[in-house]
Amino acid sequence: MSSIDRTLHVGAPNIGDRESFHHYVDEIFDRRWLTNRGELVQEFEQKLADYLGVKHCITMCNGTVALEIAIRALDLKGEVIIPSLTFIATAHALQWQEITPVFCDIDRETYCMDPAEVEKHITPKTTAIMGVHLYSRPCDVEALQAVADKHGLKLLFDAAHAFGCSHKGTMIGNFGECEVFSFHATKFFNTFEGGAITTNNDALADKIRLMQNFGFERMDKVVYIGTNGKMNEICAAMGLTNLKDLCEFLQINKRNYEAYKEGFQNISGLKLIEFDESEHCNRQYIVVEVLDEYPLSRDKLMEKLHAQNIRVRRYFWPGCHRMEPYKSLQPNAGMMLPVTETIADRILVFPTGTAIDTNMVSKIMAECK
Ligand SMILES: *Cc1c(COP(=O)(O)O)cnc(C)c1O
Repeated sequence: MSSIDRTLHVGAPNIGDRESFHHYVDEIFDRRWLTNRGELVQEFEQKLADYLGVKHCITMCNGTVALEIAIRALDLKGEVIIPSLTFIATAHALQWQEITPVFCDIDRETYCMDPAEVEKHITPKTTAIMGVHLYSRPCDVEALQAVADKHGLKLLFDAAHAFGCSHKGTMIGNFGECEVFSFHATKFFNTFEGGAITTNNDALADKIRLMQNFGFERMDKVVYIGTNGKMNEICAAMGLTNLKDLCEFLQINKRNYEAYKEGFQNISGLKLIEFDESEHCNRQYIVVEVLDEYPLSRDKLMEKLHAQNIRVRRYFWPGCHRMEPYKSLQPNAGMMLPVTETIADRILVFPTGTAIDTNMVSKIMAECK
């Protein structure tokens, strides 16, 4: 018989207080205002901006559309340098607008884009660098900014993994030209579906707001090509609810991470991700590298755990460059990505969040021994 009686998933949603959510829903129906910058969206944006300490926060219908809008608002063209070890949407948001994502290798320790590698990919067509704060850990923001400044490139960040994280004491959301969050159900902080762009640049914020709402400057006046990127009231209600419980979510993830850390200390060949204790961190990604000395291969360990209903994931195997259309469009990209390919073949992400307790972590650890 299985020692785990229900399936444990990576990305099981964090859900805040139901009473609070229901209360917001009643308010929405009483007001009969469902979308188009309703009261809850406005309140949510203000609270997010306050929490992140950023001037502007524009909520969005999801993280992918938020990325597309950010890319367009910054007038990016030609080629943009990104890591390949990321969710496919980072690349797709560029390709969707006929901008070429140029895949750059990562740092062996941080798994984030290696600033020294970035320079090797700069061509006359390069317009920007888009860092990804992967697995709850910030990129080397200063080094990337230095490369961007030296070559006259724009710098923005896909911050989908880093809501609630800080870098040198400043919350993620304040770096580069702008940063893009996803509030998808699987993320640390969710609004069912949703996202946001944050920036300290007033003019850019104005432009993003226009583009998000069909380019409407005011009633009957359109000044840009825009799309529909708006967040609706029900998603904002979920966001406001979850914001109230954010401290609890953070504590639970910290507790789970500590339990994993203790467990993995006794297993040689499985290397757990480390987080900087002096920073804020959501600890949403329990990333483990399966080393050669471990008795099973990464995939065999995954199969073993799946058989016990522990749904670990190979995020982000095999890397964007080995998926279509990039695999066909850029067949030689892997030659410049040795670290990415090594890491993508070794990692497994374990479940955490409010659906997991330390008891479950112990059971998961017992299966890994
Ligand atoms: C989830 C995610 C996205 C896409 O966000 P959606 O809200 O699902 O559209 C983009 N980039 C990264 C790194 C992600 O993890």
